Amino acid sequence: MSTENLSNPNPTALENSHEGSHEHLSELFPLSDGIGSVSLVQYVGDDSSIVRAARVSFAGDLAPFDAEKDAKLIKYLLKHQHGSPFEHNLITFRVRCPIFIDRQWVRHRVGVSKNEESGRYITLREECYIPGQFRIQAKNNRQASREDDGKLDQDKAHTLYKNAWKNAFQTYQSLLELGVAREQARGVLPLSLYTSSYYTFNLRSLFHFLELRDHEGAQWEIRLYARALAELAEPLFPAAFAAWRELHAEH
Ligand SMILES: Cc1cc2nc3c(=O)[nH]c(=O)nc-3n(C[C@H](O)[C@H](O)[C@H](O)COP(=O)(O)OP(=O)(O)OC[C@H]3O[C@@H](n4cnc5c(N)ncnc54)[C@H](O)[C@@H]3O)c2cc1C
Repeated sequence: MSTENLSNPNPTALENSHEGSHEHLSELFPLSDGIGSVSLVQYVGDDSSIVRAARVSFAGDLAPFDAEKDAKLIKYLLKHQHGSPFEHNLITFRVRCPIFIDRQWVRHRVGVSKNEESGRYITLREECYIPGQFRIQAKNNRQASREDDGKLDQDKAHTLYKNAWKNAFQTYQSLLELGVAREQARGVLPLSLYTSSYYTFNLRSLFHFLELRDHEGAQWEIRLYARALAELAEPLFPAAFAAWRELHAEH
């Protein structure tokens, strides 16, 4: 995972961690707009469930814990890509993110479960992601963006973006008033509309997500979400995260 500092996050402190609780234990706002959020809903397992699963190979899973040996084993497992002991746990997040972020998120197919709000069931809320600053297209990477070099008319970009959103949402409301079904009316809404999902990872799939999505090649907004996930999960699996961070710093 890159250690580059991303300037935007406005995280609230972690509060009240309780294994197995179904409360929303803590909430972070990666996009600093008071809408985009990630909260920890529940979790199962800890560092000891990783070493227990690994040690069952030699019937050592019931041995007493030894923090130093356990940390070494976790690092060994990660280094040598023994991934399965990292699958015996679950971490559920509630995520509210723009649809364009969610489209990137759903590409993570293995070890990630999802349920999402439905625009067929509910009237969608007037909540859209409006970037604080617009970026310009990168020259050396066709997917990427870079900081505005001062030549971009930020005010004009904001006006165009906001007007497009306002028109789209007003059209959505007008179609509903006309009697059009929600499942069809939503078709006029843009990718910046917020959507909410429950996402459940295991630690193996979470590390994979973080490696790909908090990476310099990933979109800035999903990097902020990836960092929020890491911030919420790290206190639950401190030895595994320490080993993972160390290994990635070595690369
Ligand atoms: C910076 C960036 C840019 C991207 N750009 C694009 C893009 O332009 N267009 C686009 O469509 N996607 C794009 N993606 C998505 C990317 O191709 C992956 O789908 C996504 O990152 C999920 O990674 P994954 O397949 O490793 O994860 P998962 O789907 O969670 O899979 C985990 C692992 O399981 C194994 N696996 C999963 N499915 C299979 C399978 N069918 N066969 C064999 N092994 C499998 C692989 O080892 C894989 O790494 C981009 C991703 C990133 C990070």
